[in-house]
Parts: sequence; structure tokens; C-alpha cells
Amino acid sequence: MLMRVPRATIRTQVSVPLRFGDGYVAEARVISFDGLVDGREHLTFGLGDLSGHERTPLVRPHSECLTGDVFGSERCDCGPQLREAVERIAESGGYLLYLRQEGRGIGLYAKLDAYALQDIGLDTYEANLALGHREDERSYVAAAQMLHALGASKVALLSNNPDKARQLQRSGVGVVAQVPTGVHLSAANGRYLAAKAQRGAHTLDLGLLAG
Ligand SMILES: [Zn+2]
Repeated sequence: MLMRVPRATIRTQVSVPLRFGDGYVAEARVISFDGLVDGREHLTFGLGDLSGHERTPLVRPHSECLTGDVFGSERCDCGPQLREAVERIAESGGYLLYLRQEGRGIGLYAKLDAYALQDIGLDTYEANLALGHREDERSYVAAAQMLHALGASKVALLSNNPDKARQLQRSGVGVVAQVPTGVHLSAANGRYLAAKAQRGAHTLDLGLLAG
């Protein structure tokens, strides 16, 4: 069923040149908004050529992960996912939605508490439940608001997470294609990725994880 999504408007747009640790560079248009439902400072990074109206933008909703995005934590795959997404979107034209929802929505401190529980054997979803949270508390209504404000009513979604596609469609964003991201396996994130594939129904190639 379609949800009524309140209107958000573009607040500012500024150009920010990006340079990543591996030397990759891209030019981003960083966009802020008024009227986002949860009052958080979510951002959109416009990347690549968006001039062709007939073109469907490639869109990745990326949930903030301070430890992974900024410090290169190997407990998850957020850093490499973000880096991959920027390059792929810059190539085809589209938007990276940087959503301020740490730890699948439970917050940074609670995410670290959940890590402590994972160290004694719980998986990433069980740990959230043990802390009194839901497995995944993220809402993508603000993401849909940003896309509506940008005039992107139809998108190709760069994601392995079926919940993102479902929620966006419920909020009136047409998902015309779902494009999988790569698998970023490290010595420390194998169990985390396996849990995402098994419990979160992410489309990850588990053959790679078995190796
Ligand atoms: Zn992460």
C-alpha cells in the first residue's frame, strides 16, 4: 500500500570535490533539505552526469557508519561499500543518500554495545534484539522525501537489501531495477556478512563467504 509522504524541499546545494584514501577523485554536489520527517541532517551526494532527463538515476541509500565509513573498521563492509557506490554512481549518474542512522537505526553507542555481545557469540541481529531493539530500525521515508524533492520518482537501486526497495516503493519511489553491490569480505566481517545474507535476506553470494 502506498504511504503518504510529506514534502521536503532542497535547502542548499554545494559543490564538494572528493578524494578517497586510494586516490580516487569525484566531484559531488552535496544537497541538504528542509522538511525531512525525522529532523535528522541526511545528505544527498549528486554524482556524475544527471543532465539527461530520460535517464534513470542510480541511487544508493547508505546508512551512516562512523567506524566503517571514517575509520576503516573491518567489523563491517560499510567503508568499501561507500567507496564502491560513489564510483559506480559517478560513472552512471545518480545520487548517494547518506542517511544518519547508525547501527541499523539504534545509534552509535548501542552499535558498540552490540559488538560486545557479538564478541560472546550473538550475531548482528540477535545482538540488537538482546539490547531491546528491533533487528533493523531503519526507515527510508526521509530517503524517499529526498528523492521526491530531487524529482527522482523512478530509480535504479544500488543495494543488496530488499527492505530498502520495499520501503521506497511504499513511499512512492519507483524502483525500476535493483543493482547488486560487490561483496567486501575481510578477516573480521565474515560472520557479519553471513548474518546479513541469512537473517536480512540480502542478496550476497555466499559461495564467496564459504571460501
Ligand atoms: Zn558499518
